[in-house]
Amino acid sequence: MAHVPFFDGHNDFLLRLLGASDQRETLWLERGKEGHLDLPRMQQAGFAGGFFAIYIPSPHEENAPDYLAMMDQPPYDLPLPALIHADQAQPVAIRMAGHLMWMERASSGALKICRSSAELRSCIETGTIAAIMHMEGAEAIGPDLDALYAFHAMGLRSLGPVWSRPTVFGHGVPFRFPGDPDTGPGLTDAGKDLIRACNELRIMIDLSHLNEKCFDDVAKLSDAPLVATHSNAHTVTPSTRNLTDRQLQMIRESGGMVGLNYATVFLREDGRKSTDCGWDPVMHHLDHLIEKLGEDHVGFGSDFDGAELPDVIGDVTGVQALIEEMRARQYGEALIEKIARGNWVALLERNWGE
Ligand code: ZN
Repeated sequence: MAHVPFFDGHNDFLLRLLGASDQRETLWLERGKEGHLDLPRMQQAGFAGGFFAIYIPSPHEENAPDYLAMMDQPPYDLPLPALIHADQAQPVAIRMAGHLMWMERASSGALKICRSSAELRSCIETGTIAAIMHMEGAEAIGPDLDALYAFHAMGLRSLGPVWSRPTVFGHGVPFRFPGDPDTGPGLTDAGKDLIRACNELRIMIDLSHLNEKCFDDVAKLSDAPLVATHSNAHTVTPSTRNLTDRQLQMIRESGGMVGLNYATVFLREDGRKSTDCGWDPVMHHLDHLIEKLGEDHVGFGSDFDGAELPDVIGDVTGVQALIEEMRARQYGEALIEKIARGNWVALLERNWGE
């Protein structure tokens, strides 16, 4: 059946390049077996565009427990990592923004960093991969927000105020299963300023990883559609990282969007990390998101290179198998096109303006 180009809400490929500058030609330009993404696999898979996350890793902890092993043995409740100050985070964030700019230069026209709806449309028309510079956690921005304007000038067009960690702006959810997303206080005053500034600059605000009180504060303040780039349904998998039906209803009413996360820990009903789960958990979440959000407000949000994925997906080349599974379950071609790409493009046009 026909290959469907798709747009993706979240990947952590820049994290693979961080600290591996000497291997970046190999990692990006050569077809690899490790990780989920590289340019040849993305082109083969029909990857039309997506959000590339700038994410600041927590410093290495001596004698830390094996958190990944804990996530395969629910119930679990991982502690929130410590806050990272802007003066520590900024050099890392600049390096990652630079890696994305290098990827654009190294791609000989195959990938372009998109800063506007017009650039996004042009990429789609020409079959160029549309990369959106995104920040997953605003650690690199201080409470004076000056760095927000600097990163906007570099091409930043999407930002999540927090990862699962506190920032000066608000709190993320700890990874907990079972658990609900109401895990802490709402936005700080600086967080409210950040939301207003993102609205002014038309930087898309990402609610994935925010706790419920912060989510509600953004909903009250923001004049943009509510978006969770890579989150699933709490009713299906009661993880702190997933969205309750009340949150999904608010996203729908705002004209927003949710990207389906392929991470097994947020997909499997038992909350485990194991990857031998077949299609059922993936399709259960997708069906629930469509039921609650409507057909125009759901897309993909893979978490490529940031999580363990079901064996049936494997890496970016498995997305066409997901599309085949949607066909097998009576999704029509028009709905498949919307979920694969059309809804993300329309959302970005609503957020960024024509
Ligand atoms: Zn994430």
